[in-house]
Amino acid sequence: MEAKIRNAKAIALKNARLDDPFWGRYTRLVTEKLLPYQWRALNDLVPGAERSGCVENLRVAAGEREGRFHGYVFQDSDLAKWLEAAAYSLTWRPDPALERQCDEAIELIGRAQEPDGYIDSYFTIEAPGAKFRNLRQGHELYVMGHMMEGAAAYFDATGKRRFLDIMCRTADLICDKFNTPEFSAAYPGHEEIELGLFKLGKAAGEKRYIDMARAFVERRGVDPDWFAREEEHPDYVTVWGRGGLDRLYHQCHLPVREQKTAEGHAVRAAYLYSAMADIAFEYGDGSLLHACETLYGNIVDRRMYITGGIGSSGAGERFTADFDLPNASGYAESCASVGLAMFCRRMLTGTGDGRYADTMERALYNTVAAGVSLGGEEFFYVNPLEVWPESCVEGTSMEHVKPVRQRWFGCACCPPNIARTLAGLAGYAATENGEDFRLDLFISGRYKTPMGEVEVRTRFPFEGNVALKIEGGGGRLALRLPGYVRDYAVLRNGERVEAELRDGYLYLSGPWDNDTVEYRLEIPPVFVWADTRLRAAAGRVAVMKGPVVYCLEEADNGTNLSALTVDTKAGLTEDYRPELLGGTTVIKARGWRDVDDPSGGLYRFDEPQREPAELTFVPYCLWDNRGPGEMAVWVRRG
Ligand SMILES: [Zn+2]
Repeated sequence: MEAKIRNAKAIALKNARLDDPFWGRYTRLVTEKLLPYQWRALNDLVPGAERSGCVENLRVAAGEREGRFHGYVFQDSDLAKWLEAAAYSLTWRPDPALERQCDEAIELIGRAQEPDGYIDSYFTIEAPGAKFRNLRQGHELYVMGHMMEGAAAYFDATGKRRFLDIMCRTADLICDKFNTPEFSAAYPGHEEIELGLFKLGKAAGEKRYIDMARAFVERRGVDPDWFAREEEHPDYVTVWGRGGLDRLYHQCHLPVREQKTAEGHAVRAAYLYSAMADIAFEYGDGSLLHACETLYGNIVDRRMYITGGIGSSGAGERFTADFDLPNASGYAESCASVGLAMFCRRMLTGTGDGRYADTMERALYNTVAAGVSLGGEEFFYVNPLEVWPESCVEGTSMEHVKPVRQRWFGCACCPPNIARTLAGLAGYAATENGEDFRLDLFISGRYKTPMGEVEVRTRFPFEGNVALKIEGGGGRLALRLPGYVRDYAVLRNGERVEAELRDGYLYLSGPWDNDTVEYRLEIPPVFVWADTRLRAAAGRVAVMKGPVVYCLEEADNGTNLSALTVDTKAGLTEDYRPELLGGTTVIKARGWRDVDDPSGGLYRFDEPQREPAELTFVPYCLWDNRGPGEMAVWVRRG
C-alpha cells in the first residue's frame, strides 16, 4: 500500500479557487441558489414543497416551541449536511450573512443538545427513554455523524470552536457509551458515525474518536444478530416495525474483511466502504485495504451503472445481483453516487491509483451533477437511465421514478448531500503532500500548491486540452491519464516531453519557474458497449465523450425513443452549442426510426418500416432541463 505520492491529502478547500466552464454553473448554484433555497426548505418556507420540519424539530427539542417531531427520524441530518455545505462555501467565498445564519443554526443545535452531549431531536422529543435502544432503525448515530462532519468543516472554514465543542461532547458520550460491556459489540444501522468521528477526531486532535470509528468498522457483522437482539430490551421502541432483520441490507452479514460483494442499501454500503478506507490508511491496515479493493472491484466491474449510479433496486434502495442494472426502473440514488465518489476519493488519496479517479469522475460528472437542475431548485433522488414519463405511475412498481426533478422530498437526504459535494468539489480535484501536486480532475482554477500557485485552464470535458502554469519550486507534478483517453501529448514550455507513467498518472519533475505545461488529451465522442451479461444493455450502445455519458431526450428526438436505432458504423459528430443548456457539446449520430401504421393492432405479422433519422445526444447530467419528456441512455444498435 505504498502511495505514489506519500502522505497525500486532498487539497484544502481554502487553497483552491475554481473557475470552470463545466462546473462553474454548479458551484455558482451553491452560493446563489442551493444554500439559500435549502435554508428556506429546512425552515418550511418554500411554498408547494414537501414540509421539512427540520429546524422546527430542533426548536421543539430545545424546549422553545410546543409540538411533535415532524418527518423522518433522521431529519436533523439535513441541517447538518447544509451546515457542512455552507462551511465549504465559506472557505472559498466569505459571506458574513451566511456565516451568521450558520452561527444561529449551531447555537440552536447547542440548545437542543442534552446535558450529557446527546443530540437527536427525534428521540429527545418522541422517545427519550429509548435512546440508543434501536440502533438498527433509530439513525441517531447517523445524525450525529453528519453533525460531526459539519462541525469539522465549520471549524476548518472559520476557526470557530463552538460547533466542534458541541460535537466533541457528543463524541465523548459515544466513546463512553459504546465501550461499556453492554454496548461493546454494537454498531450503527446506517453507517455515517464512522466518517463523522474520523473527521472530528482529526479536526479536534482526539485520537480516541478515530479509535471509536475504527471499532465501529471492526465490529460490524462480527455479531450479525445485534439488531435482532436489541429488540428484546424492555426500552426498545420500533421506528418502522419489528423483526425481519435483513443482514445484507445493513452490511452486517459478515465481518467487513470477509465481505466480497457490495450488498444492501447502497448509501450505507458506500459510507461503510469510505469508512473502511479511512481506517485502512490511518492504521496502515493491509487486510482492510484489500477488502476495500475487492468491494470496489465488485462495484465497478459488475454493479455500477455507466453513469456511476449504484444500488439498482427501488425496493430497499439497494444492490441486487451482478449485472442487474435495469434502465427504466433503476434506482441509483443521488446520495449513493455521492458515497461512491467519497469512497473513490479516499482510495485515490491513499493509493495514488488513477482507476479510482476514473470512477470518482464518472459519479461526479453524471449522476451527482444530474441531481440538481440548472436552476438549482429542483432535485433528483432517483436516477434511472431511461424515462418514459407516462409509465411513472403512483401506486405501481415505478412510483419511485420521478420523471422530473422535485422541489423537495419528505425524505430529503439527497439535495443537501449534492450541495455539500458541489461546495466541496475542489477537494475532489487535486491532491498534495507538502512537496508534490497531483491534478486528479480537470477543473479550471488556481490552486495553492507546494510549487506555488498552479493555474489550470481547460474547457474539459467539452475539449481535452488542459493548460497549466506552475509558479515555482521543486516538487513533482502528476497529471492523470484517464482510461478513456485515446491519445495524449505533454508539452513543457512548448517542447514535447515524455513523462513517466505510473498507475494512471504522468509524473513531471521540478524545478519549476513559471513553466507552462500543455496537456493534450484526445477525447472524441465514442460508442460504448456493455458486458454482454448486462441484459439491460443487450443489443444497445451508449455514447460518451470523456467521462460524460450522453442521452437522448424527447426535446431533440421526438417521442417514442425506443423506436430509434443508431448506426454505429456511421460515426459521431460533436458540436459545442453555447446557447443550449448553459453551454454544452451535443453529439449527433445517424440512425433510423421504426415507423408503422398505428391502426395495425398491438401485434402484427410484418416488420415495421424504418426511415433515416438523425439522433441528437446531450449530457445525461443536463437532462430534464427543458420540460418533461422521454430520456434514454442505452440506444438500440441498427
Ligand atoms: Zn439521498
